[in-house]
Amino acid sequence: MVDLSPPAYPDLAFRPFPGFAWPGGASCGVTFAWHVDGEAGPMASDMNAVRHVAAISEAAYGVTTAMPRILALHRELEIPATFFVPAHVAERHPATIEAILKDGHEVAHHGYMHENVFGMDDGDERAVFEHASAILERLTGEAPRGWSAPAWGVKAHTLELMVSMGMTYDASLMEYDRPHLIETRAGSLIELPISMVLDDWALFGSSIYWGGDVALVPAEHAETIWREEFDGMRRYGGLFQTTFHPNLMGRPGRLIMLERLLGHMRSFDDVWWGTCEQAAALARETAT
Ligand SMILES: [Zn+2]
Repeated sequence: MVDLSPPAYPDLAFRPFPGFAWPGGASCGVTFAWHVDGEAGPMASDMNAVRHVAAISEAAYGVTTAMPRILALHRELEIPATFFVPAHVAERHPATIEAILKDGHEVAHHGYMHENVFGMDDGDERAVFEHASAILERLTGEAPRGWSAPAWGVKAHTLELMVSMGMTYDASLMEYDRPHLIETRAGSLIELPISMVLDDWALFGSSIYWGGDVALVPAEHAETIWREEFDGMRRYGGLFQTTFHPNLMGRPGRLIMLERLLGHMRSFDDVWWGTCEQAAALARETAT
């Protein structure tokens, strides 16, 4: 017989801050977030990918070839950024982590091997979080403050775990346009909402390891979508937070487009720019 009883939602509450305002009367906020998945991308679902030299080379392109260009673009335009880096990628490429920190950007938690924690039991999930956090702390000098979910896998335990580890924000959920509060059984976190609209994977993503199918679109197609979304965020006062992958967005033609898009965004003087950690601190300060 069909089960028509209501589902049991997790014990979580998502609360917008009624008093939230961007500093200085800004119309919207921008947190430029990069997901430096690197070699962990193909290995996240199958460690055999380590032997697939072509897939690993495509993944490594994002770190070794694209990251220096991306950092140079941020330096030139003076745009702060947050780099979510799987700890395995960080330990394999410590010079990249050094370069990110040297430019004043933030390094944040993105699992050890880009694990989708949705299917993990609580103990394994804690082991992944603690192991990755310890590696990032060793490489950066401080424990990461925030996390963005690999493959968007999040459960209530994940958010409780982050609170228990002293982390301050999550950047994986989508209910509101602005930073807001997540109340868990263990305490609260700030949510910095993401959007599929600003995830470059939707337009440019492909997986060589799983067959390499890719639907290529011109970079200007992405530019149109993201410019529309930025203009909309200015109109509605939201957070424009990207989910960009260096191996996708760091391709030469796409970076030229990104420079154009950033030129448009930089032409307004009523936009707040910051790292995710700064946006989370701002939400805590101004909205409670
Ligand atoms: Zn990722």
